[in-house]
Amino acid sequence: MAENYFKKFPNLEGYFGEYGGAFIPPDLEKEMKRISEAYFSISKSHNFISELRSIRKHYQGRPTPVYFCNRLSEKYGGRIYLKREDLNHTGAHKLNHCMGEALLAKHLGKKKLIAETGAGQHGVALATAAAYFGLECEIHMGEVDMEKEHPNVVRMEILGAKVVPVKHGLRTLKEAVDSAFGAYLEDPITTLYCIGSVVGPHPFPMMVRDFQRVVGIEAKEQFFDMTGELPDKVVACVGGGSNAMGIFSSFLDDDECELYGVEPAGLSIDKIGEHAATMTHGKPGVIHGFKCYLLQDDKGEPAPVYSVASGLDYPGVGPEHSMLKDLKKVKYDYINDSETIDAFFELSRLEGIIPALESAHAVAYAIKLAKGNPQKSILVNLSGRGDKDIDFVVDKFGLPEK
Ligand SMILES: *Cc1c(COP(=O)(O)O)cnc(C)c1O
Repeated sequence: MAENYFKKFPNLEGYFGEYGGAFIPPDLEKEMKRISEAYFSISKSHNFISELRSIRKHYQGRPTPVYFCNRLSEKYGGRIYLKREDLNHTGAHKLNHCMGEALLAKHLGKKKLIAETGAGQHGVALATAAAYFGLECEIHMGEVDMEKEHPNVVRMEILGAKVVPVKHGLRTLKEAVDSAFGAYLEDPITTLYCIGSVVGPHPFPMMVRDFQRVVGIEAKEQFFDMTGELPDKVVACVGGGSNAMGIFSSFLDDDECELYGVEPAGLSIDKIGEHAATMTHGKPGVIHGFKCYLLQDDKGEPAPVYSVASGLDYPGVGPEHSMLKDLKKVKYDYINDSETIDAFFELSRLEGIIPALESAHAVAYAIKLAKGNPQKSILVNLSGRGDKDIDFVVDKFGLPEK
């Protein structure tokens, strides 16, 4: 069924069931069609595949390892494993799709890459890819996030990217997407918009998923080599959903593997504006050119969202996740800020691995699962490292007692 699944979803119009599609102005529609067609032919060419493979191995440092958490498992029960995307070059899974998108831009003869960024991870990854390929790079980022994730702003500038501060609305990820989209619309011919997750109009949710599939393909084989079996449970945090799609995509066929997508419950799961648990409280709607579960206010506009993890505070979610929820293939649940901070320190102190706050949501959920299922194996996609978050966490929450 696996190959069948990828042939079937999305369909030619970019739909995953009722979600996805391309709700965009006609000009942009033409451009997206061009990108789709180019992607279909270029991504199957021997040149493209072998160049991407070589980049992954020699530049990104793939495959990243799967690691068994000895002390964490001993403390909480279960057998907890991590897919170490934090060890991918630039410290997160995002470079997987950025190198793919930038390679596509090169094949399309584009000169410039444009994108938004939340925590700054996508911006850094894209600025890195732009430097690698010698392309210009312009990153739109909310002012609130710029302050919170200052080291990533400096990183992007060092890498030669132009960082455009976004000053309207809540000044976080959603506004940054609006702003980057606007800039792209001004010149879609020589630039490529490189979205940071499995969201946006077709073909982005498909392309980004395909570029992230390497995570699941590696992880499944590595886990099997280590244990002789498949994991009982696979856990990933969900913002837009790219790291989760990356790892889930290899297990969609294995009914014995339970898949868990973890969203941020922020400060309060019951109060609009204080969380970003799209699957729990969202309803189908359209944002940024595609249909998905969407957190909406009274007027049906995208609701304000919040999470301690800047990379997760988006009111929409990938269309494929929206479909997988309806199909009950993946269980979507949530973890709040304080559980996240506890997990951040637990993984740091028990395993010597400082996780990104986004990834700490998945770790916190794995800890919960382990407590209730002491016999089960749990594979967590550790989407990124926490260096970017250390000052913020210690300033805001202090250090826990030993
Ligand atoms: C951006 C980011 C996320 C969230 O994005 P997804 O598309 O949901 O994966 C998760 N973890 C890290 C480390 C990130 O940088």
